[in-house]
Amino acid sequence: LNRRLAEFGTTIFAEMSALAVRTGAINLGQGFPDTDGPEEVREAAVRALRDGRGNQYPPGPGVPELRTAIADHQLKRYGLTYDPDTEVLVTAGATEAIAASLLALVEPGDEVIALEPYYDSYAASIALAGGTRVPVTLRPHDGAYHLDLDELRDAVTPRTRLILLNTPHNPTGTVLTRDELAAVAALAVERDLLVVTDEVYEHLVFDGEHLPLATFPGMRERTVTISSSGKTFSFTGWKVGWVTATPELVTTVRAAKQFLTYVSAGPFQYAVAEALRLPDSYFADLRDDLRTKRDVLSAGLAAAGFEVYRPAGTYFVTTDIRPLGESDGFAFCRSLPERCGVVAVPNAVFYDHRDQGAPFVRFAFCKRTEVLTDAANRLKTLAS
Ligand code: PMP
Ligand code: GLN
Repeated sequence: LNRRLAEFGTTIFAEMSALAVRTGAINLGQGFPDTDGPEEVREAAVRALRDGRGNQYPPGPGVPELRTAIADHQLKRYGLTYDPDTEVLVTAGATEAIAASLLALVEPGDEVIALEPYYDSYAASIALAGGTRVPVTLRPHDGAYHLDLDELRDAVTPRTRLILLNTPHNPTGTVLTRDELAAVAALAVERDLLVVTDEVYEHLVFDGEHLPLATFPGMRERTVTISSSGKTFSFTGWKVGWVTATPELVTTVRAAKQFLTYVSAGPFQYAVAEALRLPDSYFADLRDDLRTKRDVLSAGLAAAGFEVYRPAGTYFVTTDIRPLGESDGFAFCRSLPERCGVVAVPNAVFYDHRDQGAPFVRFAFCKRTEVLTDAANRLKTLAS
């Protein structure tokens, strides 16, 4: 591995999913649903394949049907107007959107502020771009994680190029509030910063509401908004993501994207275009179902002795293992399959300040309720 990538080995998700396969444990590590998305969306992909739509290279920015559906979605849900021809870019999942945005916007030596704990690809993408990551730590208190706006403000220097935001936030489940987002926006305007905002869990908010950063004053022109079909439609294997931003920003990000993957898989783009037009009840049912799952797993974890930080959104619940007499999340997660047949993820991997993340462990609840109940019962045996 070159120097830029030397600190990044195998991702924790691959490591923990392999551990689950090897041990036969219940996999609450990597975040993917154990039930596929709507049949009609799958049928739409089959139809596209059969009809020869997207079987050859689709247009670089994405098929027009999908770009239009994304623009319509941003308008209908958030009142944000984007021109599907110049302000929307389809990517190979949000992962590519993040990498392409950073590769295109960050100069070597630029500082990139990211909320810590951060999704693992952020650190690697900042490194690939030659940037320096500057973590701003979300801290747990009163049963949830919070952003310290003074710390964020203090992290900005003359070298700061952009803030990489994530709301709803993986792994903590925090959903940034209107006041917090307004403060981030005011800071970005004041210090003339770009913001790349990862909103892949936009439809998975159980308490409160998702507010796109681009809706705040002065932000539409300086925000690269990223989302993905993986979580919203429960097809994480399809890898259809997207960027919405100004024509200048989209052109810049596309310059990097075209040499990463050139285009994303064609037939799935047609299917996601149809999925984005599903009735409101689809989105409400998805959210309500996951809220119930959150509650089932959270109650199970609390009963098993964990301290539980209540997630307002996402697929994940973060816990503190210290009440169980444990302090090292890594060791805990590596031994968990053998001890009780469950796989989880140590939050320390999402920290520069690893000691700060040491006692925290993330569990995914995007699983069938009987699987969550089974996992909770297994975890209860830990205390005995
Ligand atoms: N951002 C966050 C916060 C995520 O949790 C994930 C994981 N699914 C991604 C981006 C990547 O999304 P995709 O699978 O669309 O590449
Ligand atoms: N986003 C998912 C998670 O946080 C997994 C994505 C991946 O495997 N890279 O668990």
